Amino acid sequence: MHVSLTPEESAFRDEVRAFFRDEVPRDIHDKQARHIALEPEDQVRFQKILYEKGWAAPNWPVEHGGTGWTLVQKHIFETEMANSNMPRIVPFGLGMVGPVIYSFGNDEQKQRFLPDILQSNVWWCQGYSEPGSGSDLASLKTRAELDGDEYVVNGTKIWTTLAQYADWIFCLVRTSTGTARKQEGISFLLIDMQTPGVSVKPIITIDGSHEVNEVHFENVRVPAANLVGEEGKGWTYGKVLLQHERTGTAGVARTQYRLRQLRDQAGQSVRGSEPLCKDRNFMRRIAAVEVELKALEYTELRTLAAVSAGKAPGAESSILKFKGTELQQAVDELFVEAAGYYALPYVPEQYAPGFPDDQRIGAGTETDSASHYFNFRKASIYGGSNEIQKNIVAKHVLGL
Ligand SMILES: Cc1cc2nc3c(=O)[nH]c(=O)nc-3n(C[C@H](O)[C@H](O)[C@H](O)COP(=O)(O)OP(=O)(O)OC[C@H]3O[C@@H](n4cnc5c(N)ncnc54)[C@H](O)[C@@H]3O)c2cc1C
Repeated sequence: MHVSLTPEESAFRDEVRAFFRDEVPRDIHDKQARHIALEPEDQVRFQKILYEKGWAAPNWPVEHGGTGWTLVQKHIFETEMANSNMPRIVPFGLGMVGPVIYSFGNDEQKQRFLPDILQSNVWWCQGYSEPGSGSDLASLKTRAELDGDEYVVNGTKIWTTLAQYADWIFCLVRTSTGTARKQEGISFLLIDMQTPGVSVKPIITIDGSHEVNEVHFENVRVPAANLVGEEGKGWTYGKVLLQHERTGTAGVARTQYRLRQLRDQAGQSVRGSEPLCKDRNFMRRIAAVEVELKALEYTELRTLAAVSAGKAPGAESSILKFKGTELQQAVDELFVEAAGYYALPYVPEQYAPGFPDDQRIGAGTETDSASHYFNFRKASIYGGSNEIQKNIVAKHVLGL
């Protein structure tokens, strides 16, 4: 398969490249280059710049603010975004609940929620997993009982990413019990995080960061108007969302970008008396990842072509998810090896007084390789663990 760009597509690529170079503020470029985590305000600022340009939601239908781009344009955009080392888009609004609302919500919900999602005015989080209900998500127990024109919600969600900043949460809740199948009786509910009875407790992960949380609901009263689609059909809507989520986690362009950085680093890191790039075994492992990544790129393009033609992503999104995250983690391991002694997590100056940032040994950038490695152990778990994705592929792709 050979992909070459038409003159129009090349011009589009140049426009996207120049936009990221010139229109995204220097401080965001700098933080990205120095591996400094963006503050939520930085993230929102970046997404609003995309919105102003009309590029916030390439995958949305045009009537709701999408770009109307061809598949190739979307691919170019993703690739240029990765090559320009731009922040990742926080997926919960633009990539997850937005598509559910425009696909299954009523007109009032579309008018009420979609503009704020598109403009990144509202921060969303995802309330699916519960203690004891992760892989077996359909066993979820958070109850929503109708009382007049409100649902009363009780239960706990877990691993809720960035809930500490969220204004709203979209939840799968159980609205009836005793159904023939546990997938029935689940509904899709939108909940304002400021509602009395909602509380957020942090979970600190192995890299020392605060990304995930528990969210507790105690007699939380939610207007019935916040139910998306039909009561009891939430499993169907939630599954569509998961397939979109999985398609998006492959991150091929970003892994390709990181591999190029790794090659540069291998040119600078010394093993014995020679640069690491002279180590044939190490370079062979980089090449092996590159080959697999190229194969995955075409699988991703095929899936995106089907999605662009109006098909919901199916079980092939599971292939993208497990293979993409396996390759991300393979690159993380190679980075840690390339960094050697310098792979240790970043130590803020306050803990190492007298050794400010610019006087640390090593080139500096490799010092986040261990924390990235630890943080991205999550990739083979979130969005449905890789073992579960392999089960889906075995059943629905291979017919086993
Ligand atoms: C960093 C991070 C962020 C997350 N963010 C969110 C979020 O924002 N919102 C949200 O709702 N959820 C989120 N999740 C939750 C995530 O979706 C679940 O962790 C995941 O689905 C696995 O569920 P579990 O943790 O309960 O593990 P379990 O389901 O208990 O699984 C434990 C182990 O058993 C294996 N296993 C389980 N069943 C099978 C089977 N049938 N066959 C083979 N192996 C099996 C699993 O692969 C896993 O290795 C996040 C998770 C992480 C780590």
